[in-house]
Amino acid sequence: MRKLFNHLVCAAVAFALALPAGAAPASTDPSDAAMESIRPEAIRAHMNFLADDLLEGRGANSRGYEISARYMATEFESMGLTPAGDAGTYLQTVPLRSVRSEAANTTMSVTRNGNVETLTYRKDFLAAADPARKETSVEAPVIYVGFGVTAPELNYDDYKGIDAKGKIVAMVYEAPNFESSLKAHYSSIEQKIANAAAHGAVGLIVVNDPILEGLYSFKEQVRDLSRPGLRWLNKEGLPNDYFPQLHGGALLSLEASKQLFVGSGHTPEEVFQAAKEGKPLTFALPLTVKIHNLAKLEDVSSHNVVAKLEGSDPALKNEYLVYSAHLDHLGIGEAVKGDTIYNGALDNASGCAILLEVARAFSQMNPRPKRSILFVAVTGEEAGLLGSDYFGHYPTVSKDAIVANVNMDEDQMLWPLLDIIPFGAEHSTLDGVVKRAAERLHLALSPDPMPEQVIFIRSDQYSFVKQGIPAVYPSPGLKSNDPKIDPVAIFKEWEETRYHQPQDDMQQPNLDFSQAVKYAQFAYLCGWLITQDPQRPQWNAHDFFGDHYAKKM
Ligand SMILES: [Zn+2]
Repeated sequence: MRKLFNHLVCAAVAFALALPAGAAPASTDPSDAAMESIRPEAIRAHMNFLADDLLEGRGANSRGYEISARYMATEFESMGLTPAGDAGTYLQTVPLRSVRSEAANTTMSVTRNGNVETLTYRKDFLAAADPARKETSVEAPVIYVGFGVTAPELNYDDYKGIDAKGKIVAMVYEAPNFESSLKAHYSSIEQKIANAAAHGAVGLIVVNDPILEGLYSFKEQVRDLSRPGLRWLNKEGLPNDYFPQLHGGALLSLEASKQLFVGSGHTPEEVFQAAKEGKPLTFALPLTVKIHNLAKLEDVSSHNVVAKLEGSDPALKNEYLVYSAHLDHLGIGEAVKGDTIYNGALDNASGCAILLEVARAFSQMNPRPKRSILFVAVTGEEAGLLGSDYFGHYPTVSKDAIVANVNMDEDQMLWPLLDIIPFGAEHSTLDGVVKRAAERLHLALSPDPMPEQVIFIRSDQYSFVKQGIPAVYPSPGLKSNDPKIDPVAIFKEWEETRYHQPQDDMQQPNLDFSQAVKYAQFAYLCGWLITQDPQRPQWNAHDFFGDHYAKKM
């Protein structure tokens, strides 16, 4: 279908050129030519550079990342885009704090019936280091609060009838079976931490259950902990999402989680099954837990890259569409199959390469789109959406002037693109935008096929949503029209063998850059439709995120 479409467009252009002067061309939509200008070789070339071993995996706050940021800035400059970072540059400084638990001085113990059981760091538990205090200690009784979710608008409260004041709250990672993006929102650890703090808890334990173990195993979490955690710092120097009333946090292994329920009157199987069914139990545990943590804190910084294409409409040019893609990946880490460089080719050199080519396509348009566009390559996504959250709090243009966000992350260019999963679009009029774009490109739209993966909160669009800005993250769908190609199996294998591993590099087989062009065209077209529409995108009436986060006009 893609090839046929390309031929049709090429034929239309050729026909238009052959027309005598004055005759109406077959197509007058300037976006056709802009989309045709996106070339697979250009996407491949950007990815080759960004995912090169010399950039050492672009860990936020690394030399390799800074080189990649200069690359993005240089490309934007060569297209004639205006710098829109700090002080007339393409870079926006993001102050960060690096946080690491000192393994030797991080302890956890459980006291039950007067017996003290000591847990082993990295074998039984991992501790969340406090981003503002070098040393923290907490000892308190523990209440199991199910998911730890309070959602009054959905009539849901795991804390109902529970006094968590002065207690450590234990919870499983998941969320109730709400609709996909609400489930994702409520499963986010930041929401759970804020909710625990609001209920007067002094500490928090995440209990591992078979679901979490399947999604992100304790072993993988231990491996990823070889890198320090990062937080962004606000203008007062405080870390983001910080609650000083919480004095300790830990994640338990599956085995240690099961042990926690001993003597509680509930078997771990019963506890896990109830959570799986979306109706978790809540009860006090007959024990106290002590967590002591010593952290190593260091202030560092990184950069977002921000470029602007000014709109052509005298009024609408004061409004901005923001395209985002995260530029960072995981840097250098534990060796896997003898390789220590986590190149992040699909995650997310792909999105940044496409960001550049979408920017190029827009920059060559004459006249330019009506609204202005910001192209933002963000840092620290892998460490918790840091660069985009920082940009959301401190945008380099007026926040009210940002009308929408289109985010690009992990283009799975491993099978032909037949459909798109438009994460988040259903909450706003962006739903209509993705429908029109999909129709024009002969792509289908598919619902979230894996709500348990909570994709909606796992990339940078969520940072914009939390600022009340309608956002969409188009992700390649899993449809196939060829019995020999099974995208679900390909994706699953990629997740197991390459996702967040050094093997997500440019040597991986079957990278299909013509797929990437199609994905880029879809992203381009969404932006084009948003910039041309006299109406800015609106949240749906009574939408959860609109009601929660958007400023009432
Ligand atoms: Zn990632």
